Amino acid sequence: MIDGKKRKEEKRIKDEDLFKVVDSTIDSRTYLSLIQIARRLNIKEYYGAISSGKEAKIYPALTRDGKWYAVKIYYVSTAASKRALEKYTLGDPRFKDVKIKTTFQLIEIWARKEYKNLARLSEAGVSAPKPIYVFRNILVMEFIGEEGVRAPLLKEVPEEAITEELYNAIITEVEKMVNLAHLVHGDLSEYNIMVWDNRPYIIDVSQSVDIEHPNALELLQRDLENINRFFEGHGVNVEPVEDILGRLEISNVKGNDVYNSSG
Ligand code: ATP
Ligand code: MN
Repeated sequence: MIDGKKRKEEKRIKDEDLFKVVDSTIDSRTYLSLIQIARRLNIKEYYGAISSGKEAKIYPALTRDGKWYAVKIYYVSTAASKRALEKYTLGDPRFKDVKIKTTFQLIEIWARKEYKNLARLSEAGVSAPKPIYVFRNILVMEFIGEEGVRAPLLKEVPEEAITEELYNAIITEVEKMVNLAHLVHGDLSEYNIMVWDNRPYIIDVSQSVDIEHPNALELLQRDLENINRFFEGHGVNVEPVEDILGRLEISNVKGNDVYNSSG
């Protein structure tokens, strides 16, 4: 009885009360999805966007029992993004049966893909946000930071915190990502790593591919070069990319041998 009454009362709460900040960029379909997600995950409030990239926006959300989530909303945008989506999803064995129709369906695949990739990272013990829920074009994950204030990106970390220890910790996460989760990030840089309590968190894995993907080695090489370039630029002694690759179990058609003999 009391439970039923309480539930009715909760439904009576005006939907607008869910949103701390009015965001006119949220379309009505996404808005309704956010309301459904709030009911499902016991979310009390969504806060203003902490980031608006080209293809996604991130909002902090607070549950009634005081947990913070990061809510990533993917947007249907340009033809370029459609091409990128196709490039990464085609060739990925997990998506070979998916018949691609509309850009909206693509964006939903994109959200599910990031969810699955985060789940693989989490299972393999890689430091990354834990996935919580995915619905349509919206992904809910663990919030990296405190009280709705996000952790800094590697790009934003103060100079004195950019150390060899941090570099090694990041390379260790990349190794776990490849050897245990069998994933290559594909867009790794100082913009897609957060640092919290001196610990790196790998984020933005929607485009990450299985190590069997035809471009996996090429992407991994570029990821490592980005990390090395960043730390070298801050005076940290880095390990040559080919040495790191030597420890990574990524032997596809193109293979490590080809890389090693040319490098
Ligand atoms: P952008 O183009 O802005 O990089 P994106 O589509 O690449 O957007 P992400 O990189 O996943 O999306 O997230 C955008 C930003 O949101 C990140 O740079 C980071 O500041 C913040 N962010 C992402 N995930 C989380 C999280 N789990 N917890 C806290 N903040 C996060
Ligand atoms: Mn990003």
